Amino acid sequence: MAVVTDRERRRHARVMMTAQPMMADGEQIATVYVGKDVTAMYNGLEKATYSLTGLAVLALIVAAAIGHMLAGEAIVPLVEAYEKQRQFAADASHELRTPLSVVMASADLLDNDPSITSPFLKQVIGDVRDEVKKMTKLVSDLLFVARSDNQALKAKLSKVDLAAAADQTIRLMQPLADKKNISLIREGEESLTAKLDEQKMKQLLLILVDNAVKYTTEGGKVTVRVLSPAAGKIRLEVEDTGIGISEEDKAKIFDRFFRVDKARSREMGGNGLGLAIAQEIVTLHGGNINVESELGKGTKFIVTLKG
Ligand code: ADP
Repeated sequence: MAVVTDRERRRHARVMMTAQPMMADGEQIATVYVGKDVTAMYNGLEKATYSLTGLAVLALIVAAAIGHMLAGEAIVPLVEAYEKQRQFAADASHELRTPLSVVMASADLLDNDPSITSPFLKQVIGDVRDEVKKMTKLVSDLLFVARSDNQALKAKLSKVDLAAAADQTIRLMQPLADKKNISLIREGEESLTAKLDEQKMKQLLLILVDNAVKYTTEGGKVTVRVLSPAAGKIRLEVEDTGIGISEEDKAKIFDRFFRVDKARSREMGGNGLGLAIAQEIVTLHGGNINVESELGKGTKFIVTLKG
């Protein structure tokens, strides 16, 4: 039997009890309780539990710290390889530009040489010029995305009249549209000046209008709208009555090298980088680009920018 006399100790005492009924002639006449003071054992176990929990937390922290360090170490070669690859893409595209312009200049020379009269040779020279043109476009598009990956792309902001840039793009695209009997229409503001990168805005307009003409069938309509829905806001719309884009493909058209119909796009001189570049340009200006489209009906690209 445990007898605890000290009042303070009695309050914290832990006693293990057992009860045994005493029987006489089949009747319970008493119950014997036997108890054992297990306070020391209980306190010991309690302390051990706290210590083990503390140790477990410490072990977790140490394991997480070591894991973090090792993961960082393991990623270093990966990051380096990725950086090297990005740099390679940028350097390769840059270095390819000079030989390509030399080939182009040589092909131009041959094209203008009066001593070459054979129609076959003229055709060959024409084909070489076409291929070099496509390659030059691909190389400069690749250089653009490589620069954007290297964060080397900066917007050179100046006061630009976006409406005038749209007019210029329409003038540039008119011969291509005429070939397909497509009407090119300009709507919206006559003049809309904002701080933008002029060259990149022209590139964006050209990508969107070129696509609209490319993916619109004979006799269709392409409308370019330069709008100012509110002060400090610019909305550029390029709408066509072309082949349209399916719901599934809408999510992918801004991906690099994505083309709904690869053969058709290549045939028309596309490389699948146009919309990826368009998106980079818009993002660089802190804007947004969205697409609304219905298969067989047409497509509308909407660019929103700060004015
Ligand atoms: P591409 O050089 O092939 O035109 P883009 O990146 O400019 O590459 O466009 C990606 C794909 O999105 C195109 O291959 C085409 O399938 C689709 N697309 C782009 N613009 C239009 C449009 N106006 N109408 C229909 N499809 C379009």
